[in-house]
Amino acid sequence: MLWRKVTPYLLLAVCTLIALYALYPASSTTLNEVHDSPSKSLSTEEIYPHVIEKNSSLYVALRKLNVDSLSIQKLVKAAKPENNLARLMPGTRFRLVFEEEPVTSYVDSQEVREEKAKSPVLKEMHILTSTTDVLKIYRLQDQWFTESYQEPVEIEPVTFSGIVQTSLWESADAANMNPELIGQLSEIFAWQIDFAREVRRNDRWRIMVEKKMVRGETVGWGDIRVAEYENEGRSYKAILFEKEGELKGYFSPEGKSLRKMFLKSPIKFARISSRFQRRRFHPILKVNRPHLGVDYAAPIGTPVRAVGAGRVTYAGWRGGGGKTIKIRHNSVYKTAYKHLNGYAKGIRRGKRVEQGQIIGYVGTTGLSTGPHLHFEFFKHGKFVDPLRQEFPSADPIPKKFMAEFQAHSNEVLQALPDWQPVSELSANF
Ligand SMILES: [Zn+2]
Repeated sequence: MLWRKVTPYLLLAVCTLIALYALYPASSTTLNEVHDSPSKSLSTEEIYPHVIEKNSSLYVALRKLNVDSLSIQKLVKAAKPENNLARLMPGTRFRLVFEEEPVTSYVDSQEVREEKAKSPVLKEMHILTSTTDVLKIYRLQDQWFTESYQEPVEIEPVTFSGIVQTSLWESADAANMNPELIGQLSEIFAWQIDFAREVRRNDRWRIMVEKKMVRGETVGWGDIRVAEYENEGRSYKAILFEKEGELKGYFSPEGKSLRKMFLKSPIKFARISSRFQRRRFHPILKVNRPHLGVDYAAPIGTPVRAVGAGRVTYAGWRGGGGKTIKIRHNSVYKTAYKHLNGYAKGIRRGKRVEQGQIIGYVGTTGLSTGPHLHFEFFKHGKFVDPLRQEFPSADPIPKKFMAEFQAHSNEVLQALPDWQPVSELSANF
């Protein structure tokens, strides 16, 4: 039965290879043309042929290349404000440019030519200080100067697709995809799917992402440009749309933002009677106690709304909080509503609620001096002040960009790879 286990992985590997090599020929061609240069086909090792060896130093490396001590001293000194060359890590690559000595007189004896070859005059040194950063140290007459520049980064769109068998991470692994991209994918759909709790076997995903390359080597990953996630048979699509300086975000094919804003307040026309304070004298307990929420004064029975879509994780009596509702909005945000008089019909643990849905009514249950709603906001499990949270825009695509967005959306959605087949794989279990 081994082949049954191996086949899907082979399939994934093949698909990934196809994705890596056969993708988006039109766009790669354009990029190649833009960055075309004689050095284009050369690898990093060919462009930067010298390397600082293990347990060695730049000085030793340069002396081996016949650079004279005085030049080394001068260039190290010149580079000092930018980079301490004495501390370059082994493995650092560099290249040298030598200057031809001006011919002062017509001498062409064997000795003179040998002498020249022994001590070539260094003109420039280019050190690759990271995958993309280059420090250039160069000489003009007897003075040394420095200049920083970057190796051109090429962006190549590539696609991946996966199917969940045990976890999202495992599906990335099976697709030979960098797991950091799963983090990016789960952030894109954070408002649509609770990736900590709602991922199911046979959920499927497919993406097109920007691969960053320097001289043919992958140096990192850019934005996911388009993604689709199928959760329990429901499909969610995300299209990245960017207008320099104006907007950048993920949108549904209809142009709606995938982000959702929270309502400004869980109560319409409420008056804030107590703000979020790390230190406050508690009116009933008569001790200093932080007030880790916002109080809204309102008459008993005033409807309380969920500030965002999510799932009810608690609906019941909770000590000093009295009748309490807690909602988990996604893997980052949770809210809590306390001192309620009662719960709206159908509100119980596990129930899904929409943004703005009435979940309960203002009361004064638990430790409370009068009718009010105590509202709490949690980010990554910690109390935060809801009135001080800044959320990115959740506006839809503006009308003026709609036509352009739709053309773009159609194009990138077609570039997504085929789904991984579900039936074959699930037969294994
Ligand atoms: Zn309160």
